[in-house]
Amino acid sequence: MADYIIVHANADGDPDKPTLFLVDKSQHGVRIAREPKFTNTYVFGHPEFVFEDVEVPETRVLGPVGGGLELTKDWFVEARLQIAANTLGAAIRALELADAWASERRQFGRPIRDFQSIEFMLADMAVEIIAAKSLVYRVAWEIDSGADRKRVHAHASAIKLQASEMAGRVLDKAVQIFGGRGYMRENAVERLNRDVRVDRIWEGTSEIQRVVIGGQMRKRGPEVFCGW
Ligand SMILES: Cc1cc2nc3c(=O)[nH]c(=O)nc-3n(C[C@H](O)[C@H](O)[C@H](O)COP(=O)(O)OP(=O)(O)OC[C@H]3O[C@@H](n4cnc5c(N)ncnc54)[C@H](O)[C@@H]3O)c2cc1C
Repeated sequence: MADYIIVHANADGDPDKPTLFLVDKSQHGVRIAREPKFTNTYVFGHPEFVFEDVEVPETRVLGPVGGGLELTKDWFVEARLQIAANTLGAAIRALELADAWASERRQFGRPIRDFQSIEFMLADMAVEIIAAKSLVYRVAWEIDSGADRKRVHAHASAIKLQASEMAGRVLDKAVQIFGGRGYMRENAVERLNRDVRVDRIWEGTSEIQRVVIGGQMRKRGPEVFCGW
């Protein structure tokens, strides 16, 4: 659907100083190699593009030459916060559905929520959510209030890692509470479970978030995460 692509490339040979370029999708040399099917069921696809002898004028450089990483970091803050909010929303929906189902579904003569193993799962889901929600609002507030850029970058990695992994755990429990129905494509938690999986991969995998967080602690100490 997009008209142009933001391409991250090395302009002066230094891999640590990439540059961003705006490239029109219709430009000569740009083509889609294939559109693989992914686990999720989003309406938009994720095509693989190929660039062959694509030339762009200087006017299509986004920001300064060699300044691509700095711009990308700004964008990552927004994107990582957005992923945290998305996954939090998915987890809340899953808890609402699982909670309602636990009251409705009866086994052995009683609602399944009367089994402590089910109610404890619901309790753990709720606690994970309240913790993640507090952090999402905290980091969003920091961004809005213009907190130090490096600190915000570190916190955006932390919340992306925490919320996306939290959603994975919560969705897994929701599927379990639904039993066989949780594995049916007609069930919302089945879809949510599939859809949140990618949030541990894109915009930096969970491992890369840990690299960012670990790097910040080396440079600035644990205070960057704990001193507030
Ligand atoms: C559905 C979908 C849509 C996407 N859309 C876009 C998009 O619009 N734009 C875009 O730019 N990208 C997009 N991506 C790409 C996505 O950002 C990458 O898949 C992701 O960053 C991981 O890179 P990779 O797939 O090359 O995995 P790899 O880098 O090969 O990683 C493989 C494994 O090794 C680990 N690993 C790699 N390096 C390290 C390290 N230094 N330390 C520890 N562990 C490491 C990873 O965490 C992972 O577990 C999309 C991906 C998907 C699945």
